[in-house]
Amino acid sequence: MDVQFLGGAGEIGRSAILIDESLLLDFGMLTDSPPQFPVQTPSPDAVVVSHGHLDHVGTIPALVSGDARPPIHWTPPTYELAMTLARDTLKLHGGTVNCPFTETNVRRVTQVSKTHGYRESFEAAGYEVTFYNAGHIPGSAHVLVDDGDTRLLYTGDFHTDDQRLVAGTTARPDADAVICESTYSDVDHDPRETVEGRFVESVETTLWEGGTVVVPAFAIGRTQEMLLVCEAHDIPCYVDGMGKQVTEMLGQYPEFVRDADALQRAKSHARFVTGKDGQRKRITDQKAAIVTTSGMLSGGPAMTYIPEIRGNPMNKITMTGYQVEGTPGRDLLETGSAEIDGRIMPVSARVEQYDFSAHADRDGLFAYLDSYRDTPVLVNHGDRCEAFATTLREDGYDATAPELGATVAIQ
Ligand SMILES: [Zn+2]
Repeated sequence: MDVQFLGGAGEIGRSAILIDESLLLDFGMLTDSPPQFPVQTPSPDAVVVSHGHLDHVGTIPALVSGDARPPIHWTPPTYELAMTLARDTLKLHGGTVNCPFTETNVRRVTQVSKTHGYRESFEAAGYEVTFYNAGHIPGSAHVLVDDGDTRLLYTGDFHTDDQRLVAGTTARPDADAVICESTYSDVDHDPRETVEGRFVESVETTLWEGGTVVVPAFAIGRTQEMLLVCEAHDIPCYVDGMGKQVTEMLGQYPEFVRDADALQRAKSHARFVTGKDGQRKRITDQKAAIVTTSGMLSGGPAMTYIPEIRGNPMNKITMTGYQVEGTPGRDLLETGSAEIDGRIMPVSARVEQYDFSAHADRDGLFAYLDSYRDTPVLVNHGDRCEAFATTLREDGYDATAPELGATVAIQ
């Protein structure tokens, strides 16, 4: 089996792995200005997608341009999320070089889509493929590819610990080689309950003092996780941005979340912001948490909320995920001011960061790979892939970190 890394090797973003020039795993986009795409656009016989984050599905519609109509295999939530993200990319970049597909391409994705549940093997480009719950976001999967001789396990993004939205991965299918993500290979997360406890206490204190808390959150996964936290602790909250429609959509796939009843309760508990009649400005003095995109303050309704609440030191902004360098969210944490909607703004409201990660940390990666001690490991999806591969080798693993564009033969 020849495995070629067209993206996501030694980097995070634009994940794309081509097997025997025939089966493509993921086809993502690296968010940057300008956005970056996999180093090649192949013509695969079939496509299999691990989960519905932009860095794994963002460039998928480009695969059905011209006469190409490869079937695209994914779980139902991954399909829905891919379509949502594709339409969003069209809205942001449609008709420019920053959008490598058209509305027609996006519509065609629907025609070639094939959805599958976990542990239901299917055939793709002559391979037997099986999805296993990866515990990252709803619908996220480890992908096992079997050509009859060799079994390749592509972990995709995964988490070993439970989140409120999804339970951690427990599947460890037999494999002859593992492609393993390494996003947080040099990080130890605090236990989730500790992070949640600190967050809840901070938000409750601010609301009790009469302030408002803006909770920037990614639309997919994180927004729902924060709504679940708010419901569990009876924190009054609003939800705004693309996370609203994602929350509605996930309600239709109870089998892909940890506790469908809890998600339903969280949905009822949160007030959905319509944005009509100046509602956004009106709710900024409501003594509530406002869960909104974008997670790194680079757009979305947060652009309305931050200017409204920033002047009052009683208010708070609580980041809920990693802030990439150069984003307004990172600037705000480091300098106390940020460029919001084109204007540099000093912020008097308190700014805090909470690590609600959806990825395994260093211990989680080691715990997962403990089931693959005698299996070659190819490290990808990280900023320090080579360093993690070296650490694994020192621990006795046969581990490497393929470079971007490299082809690796596995047996
Ligand atoms: Zn992901």
